[in-house]
Amino acid sequence: MARLDTQSKLEILADAAKYDASCASSGGQKRSSMGGKGMGSTTGSGICHSYAPDGRCISLLKILLTNSCIFDCHYCINRKSSNVRRARFSVEEVVQLTLNFYKRNYIEGLFLSSGIIKSPDYTMEQLVGVARTLREVHDFRGYIHLKTIPDADPELVEAAGRYADRVSINVELPTKKGLAELAPEKDEKRIEGAMGAMRHHILDAKDAKKRYRHAPRFAASGQSTQMIVGADGASDGAIVTRAKGLYDGFGLRRVYYSAFSPIPDPSAVLPLKRPPLMREHRLYQSDWLMRFYGFAPQEVIAATDDKGMLPLDIDPKLAWALKFREHFPVDVNRAGKEQLLRVPGLGTRAVGRILASRRHRRLRLDDVARLTVSIAKVRPFITAEDWRPTHLTDRADLRAQLAPPPAQLDLFDTPRPKAA
Ligand code: SF4
Repeated sequence: MARLDTQSKLEILADAAKYDASCASSGGQKRSSMGGKGMGSTTGSGICHSYAPDGRCISLLKILLTNSCIFDCHYCINRKSSNVRRARFSVEEVVQLTLNFYKRNYIEGLFLSSGIIKSPDYTMEQLVGVARTLREVHDFRGYIHLKTIPDADPELVEAAGRYADRVSINVELPTKKGLAELAPEKDEKRIEGAMGAMRHHILDAKDAKKRYRHAPRFAASGQSTQMIVGADGASDGAIVTRAKGLYDGFGLRRVYYSAFSPIPDPSAVLPLKRPPLMREHRLYQSDWLMRFYGFAPQEVIAATDDKGMLPLDIDPKLAWALKFREHFPVDVNRAGKEQLLRVPGLGTRAVGRILASRRHRRLRLDDVARLTVSIAKVRPFITAEDWRPTHLTDRADLRAQLAPPPAQLDLFDTPRPKAA
């Protein structure tokens, strides 16, 4: 590997990290250095969350320790057979970069991942070494997200959880078949074994915290994972089912969906075209439907087409409502929370306000209109004090009326996840 200065390494290793979408820092433990103790904070003025034009969080220093790797996952630009410039940071270099960026208020924390060098254990030792030095030597109180390596010694993976706010292990592909084809050195059982062990430690630590105030924290922001969308033939239905299994089986805080981006020097087994970014967005919306709107995965799947794909032109909640119109209209003055959450165009906040307002008076269509961005989307699915949709709910052309006119999605207009 050629000798490179820090700036050149940073260019290579920050660029190489951009394919990982799981960098959100929500739910972190509140720590502060106010009062002169330690350095950094996860809260407070001057620390901002900002997003790259394609919607990815950039408020963290998001880098790889190295983009060299002994594995050869087909979808990865850093795979062994890829012809890219390689670079590697030492533990001390990452520590100093983090501290310097933090002092300048460029970042609120660190997101650190790595290609696998020498062995999973060696790589994990280096990643843990960064987090340990930041916490123990420099009393760093900012946010740390560490990628963990499923094949590494469980003690090292556990050490990662002791120093990091969040840990993540990528499942990479939604199906076992996809993983076997595109990441032959990875194994679903080992990945899930590591996730299961991590969940166990997180639950133990939470339990201890309830009993002992000073019990040490362990990955207080939980664990997350990422699935690559569109690199294999997995349908949206398969992805939704897998995501639900991961949430239920391993208590994940988030599943991130990353639309496969064709990489320079691609492997011949990969598709030539990236999936539409809107597909990634629809999967995030489905994820929200399952986590916050009471939808079962089978219900989301029921909104897909005969190939198991969600429509791109309308959101999954609207697609479901159009297919199952017998559940509508819903009376906004009488219906329960679960029914209201099914109404296209009504988000969790709007439903909460409807439930609160109707204790005092009967709601009219105008009252609902004030709570939603698009009353046109809501009207066919509700009744109110002065509103009955009559035949509107069952009209054959309702989908055409509610679908936005076709438009080219611009890379810089990627919407942020929102289910309603
Ligand atoms: S192990 Fe990680 S870095 Fe290495 S090739 Fe696979 S995805 Fe890329």
